[in-house]
Amino acid sequence: MTSSVLPQNPPLNPDLIQSLEAVLDAERVITGEKTEKFSKDFYWYSPVLKPMLEDKRAEVALRVNTLDELKQVISLLFADGVPVVVRGGGSGNYGQAVPLYGGAVIDVSGMKEIFSVDGIVRAQPGATIREIETKARAAGWEMRCMPSTWAISSIGGFLCGGSGGIGSILHGGIAYGDNVKSVTLLSMEAQPKLLRFEERDALTALHTYGTTGILVEVEMRLGKAYDWEELIFTHDDWDKLLDWTYDIALDDSIPKRLVTQFETPIPEYFKPLKKYISPGLHSTFLMVDKSKVETVLSAARAAGIEHVYSASFGTPPKPPFITDYTWNHTTLWAIKADPKMTYLQCGFGEPFRENLKKLKARFGDEILFHLEIVLGNAKFKVDSPGLAVGGIPLVRFTTTERLNEMIDYCAEIGVFVANPHTYKLEEGGVHDDIVAKRALKARVDPKALLNPGKMKSYPVNPFE
Ligand SMILES: Cc1cc2nc3c(=O)[nH]c(=O)nc-3n(C[C@H](O)[C@H](O)[C@H](O)COP(=O)(O)OP(=O)(O)OC[C@H]3O[C@@H](n4cnc5c(N)ncnc54)[C@H](O)[C@@H]3O)c2cc1C
Repeated sequence: MTSSVLPQNPPLNPDLIQSLEAVLDAERVITGEKTEKFSKDFYWYSPVLKPMLEDKRAEVALRVNTLDELKQVISLLFADGVPVVVRGGGSGNYGQAVPLYGGAVIDVSGMKEIFSVDGIVRAQPGATIREIETKARAAGWEMRCMPSTWAISSIGGFLCGGSGGIGSILHGGIAYGDNVKSVTLLSMEAQPKLLRFEERDALTALHTYGTTGILVEVEMRLGKAYDWEELIFTHDDWDKLLDWTYDIALDDSIPKRLVTQFETPIPEYFKPLKKYISPGLHSTFLMVDKSKVETVLSAARAAGIEHVYSASFGTPPKPPFITDYTWNHTTLWAIKADPKMTYLQCGFGEPFRENLKKLKARFGDEILFHLEIVLGNAKFKVDSPGLAVGGIPLVRFTTTERLNEMIDYCAEIGVFVANPHTYKLEEGGVHDDIVAKRALKARVDPKALLNPGKMKSYPVNPFE
């Protein structure tokens, strides 16, 4: 599909802009070229999405600060049948926050109150994860899982567009166990209504790219705060390093927040770490509780694995952070070094070592392994005991056909792929509850105005 087949909505009614300015002050109603920066996310990570989405832009961006403003704005946009994309930090990777049909982007980063952090964070959607993590740690708690973009991303955007990350080795992803306590949505109607969903019922509203209501409050359970030490190790033998890394991951007596392994030359893309990691070496990045650092270091010495870097995460957290090189930050460093690089999101299945070998044998240096070991299965969807070896392998992009060949081969050998080269929800992952998601959308979005075009199987799209 090319961008030219996506039609644009008719231009907004000038009276609507005036009405919006009566609700928000004029500088929070943004029109013209300045809407560009509110209309983009990190879709350009994908050479497939880049040409599809680069000319997409909202006609108006609205910066709301309160629930009351949001309700009034929604009423006005609903009356005019304007498509609406909600936006937090704008750090999504699949064009989730890119408006396909013009219309309005509502930036909720001003709705950022954190009400409490006592074992459960209760916050408005625009609160940044950094702010929550900092407040929580001061009170003896921490985020159970957070994206590597935790410094800029919002809690609402994480729940609506993300899946897991730092901490998922200990607590799984967003959808794992009881990580989410509740979400409160605002419907897209003439008289917007609040709907609260608790525990597993809340999951239906998550990871739907803002198509199933506007998240206005979230409650997420926190974990007990650990005193994390960030450690980097290197070795020239991939399999030997993997055996050691996996043993550390499996050792329940060592609390961990991050277990990441990179194939060479990936660590060479991390310019600020050049002095620590010699060229040609594979590398493991860990966050482990300080009380267990000596255990890990002596295991490394015994296995002949070299320890090259240590730093404290800190309370409050103090940069530099090794998290800045992990999860989908790895891809960013790679693209900076070589614009031909792109990525996949994989669960390597079992036996994962065999599957990695098969991929290497078939694609050689076209695929470079970046592993993230997590609790639960790599889809972050289904609870399952034990660890899964997943990751975000880098791919040297040549053509879309070759990329699809790699994705097809993964399916053939039992490697799960959450395809990051599509903005359509159902094509990007497994949605066992898509029927419930569609039903929720029908209930909260009667005119199908919320992020149209993103939920592919929804039968109504007034802008097609
Ligand atoms: C370098 C890099 C690293 C990343 N690492 C990770 C990672 O480790 N784990 C991970 O899961 N993701 C990761 N991501 C993706 C992304 O950063 C996270 O998912 C992040 O939490 C998204 O938050 P945001 O506030 O930026 O969301 P946005 O990009 O603003 O929004 C994401 C989606 O949610 C919708 N949305 C936002 N707010 C609301 C709301 N209040 N109500 C309804 N819908 C809403 C948007 O419309 C959009 O569809 C990474 C991205 C980059 C660029």
